[in-house]
Amino acid sequence: MMGCIFCAIAKGEAPAEVVYEDQATMAFLDINPATPGHTLVIPKMHVRNIYDLNDETAAAVMRTATRVARGLRNALRPDGMNLMQANERAGFQSVFHFHFHLVPRWVGDGLRLPWKPEQGDAQAMAEVASRIRKVLIETKE
Ligand code: AMP
Ligand code: ZN
Repeated sequence: MMGCIFCAIAKGEAPAEVVYEDQATMAFLDINPATPGHTLVIPKMHVRNIYDLNDETAAAVMRTATRVARGLRNALRPDGMNLMQANERAGFQSVFHFHFHLVPRWVGDGLRLPWKPEQGDAQAMAEVASRIRKVLIETKE
């Protein structure tokens, strides 16, 4: 789809801190200062909402979300992540490409990711992405 930023990321045509990738799916860090610590999981094909996901892609994207959630828990967040689904224009979505948000639990509990996207610290984001990638490789079944 023309103009979809997530499709551009999936094609490698836009930059992203990718923490996991396979044939059908991808996971990368959210750059939004308003959603610190979020990781996004997408199918590489442009699907607008959950109702349009075919069974194969639904299974693939859920498997990736599960794997990445485990990796994030092991690498950074022992308290784990919540999985939320973003659907077209149903909420306050800014990108109309089906995606999951992996959201740090207990946002108010003082446990924070050791990177601060609100400071635009690309180096810190790259470091945290590399830690997550390492854990995902180590724990890959
Ligand atoms: P939503 O607003 O729920 O549709 O979620 C889309 C998310 O994608 C937002 O949290 C954005 O911050 C995030 N986002 C948009 N563009 C990029 C990008 N180029 N790299 C990483 N995250 C992005
Ligand atoms: Zn797209």
